[in-house]
Amino acid sequence: MMGPEDRIVVAGGGGFIGGHLVARLLQEGFRRVVAVDVKEPSEWHQRHPGARNIRGDLKDLDTCRRVTAGATWVFNLAADMGGMGFIENNKAACMLSVLINTHLLMAARESGVERFFYASSACVYAADRQTSADVTPLREEDAYPAVPEDGYGWEKLFSERMCRHFTEDFGLDTRVARFHNVYGPLGTWEGGREKAPAAVARKVAAAVVSGDHRIEIWGDGEQTRSFMYVDDCVEGVLRLFASDVRDPINVGSAETVSINELVSLVEGIAGVEVERRYDLDAPKGVRGRSSDNSRILGLLGWAPSIPLADGMGRTYAWVLDQVRARAGLPGRVEGSASVLSPAG
Ligand code: NAD
Repeated sequence: MMGPEDRIVVAGGGGFIGGHLVARLLQEGFRRVVAVDVKEPSEWHQRHPGARNIRGDLKDLDTCRRVTAGATWVFNLAADMGGMGFIENNKAACMLSVLINTHLLMAARESGVERFFYASSACVYAADRQTSADVTPLREEDAYPAVPEDGYGWEKLFSERMCRHFTEDFGLDTRVARFHNVYGPLGTWEGGREKAPAAVARKVAAAVVSGDHRIEIWGDGEQTRSFMYVDDCVEGVLRLFASDVRDPINVGSAETVSINELVSLVEGIAGVEVERRYDLDAPKGVRGRSSDNSRILGLLGWAPSIPLADGMGRTYAWVLDQVRARAGLPGRVEGSASVLSPAG
């Protein structure tokens, strides 16, 4: 039986989802939460004083051994990743994340960890199932025969299998979630690794702040996606972790929008109209993608449900604060609802 004194490791705790997961675990009353990340402490999205924050490279087996010693649970959210612009141009770096999960699994097994979580991705699904903007939502069984996203998706699919075989051969209990596009405050919003929701929020916020209303959109904007608010993601991780579901499962939103619709939504939130310029040569990813949630609903009786309009409202308010701060303006504007700021 798990208690508040059990040691919980969150690999990638300085990252977007990892930071929100650490916050939630602390809220739930766990007192020995260990967040590990390779980044400089100043670059962590959140650093919670209630957690033990360790800087370390989890590609290294000895580091994995050190942080998992005495741990009961391990959540692996560490990966070298980003949005389409990053993963299409950094395939080797993405595949090297295989060292993180492999070494964490080996160390977790040696340390007698009770349960291990791995963050997989919708990028494991074959591109030829995602060629139309009018999507058929992706079901878990669609991952095979395997033709995942080159680089990043192959690493995810391989690491999923590694989890499965550690369970079968060594009895290490594992859980695997295939996240579909997660967004929210306190994530990457600039620099090349950001994903569409943060990028659109930043571009619209920059238009508001600068008065230059021209924004660039990658592709023709008709590509479709579903976006999951980070609170739903963390809730899904914890529900899956507590369940007996060992096979990989979609944790994603089924609310599908085109990028043009996403821009219109953010225009409405920001109270501005932008002039859209389409860059047809930019990385676009697959044409359409959404999550089929039949399995998660059937097995967990739950699926992500926070409406995109609500989540983007909170995300836009936070991104606007960042854009204003970058421009040397006061953080909060009249009427903005940003309630979140990075912890200490
Ligand atoms: P993120 O980039 O914000 O967080 C990942 C963290 O891992 C980063 O802080 C990074 O510094 C850290 N990291 C990278 N290499 C490391 C190493 N060698 N040792 C220790 N730490 C290392 O990404 P995120 O959005 O929080 O994603 C978390 C996980 O969820 C990743 O595995 C990602 O592939 C997966 N995922 C995310 C999304 C999404 O939309 N955000 C979608 C599908 C899957």
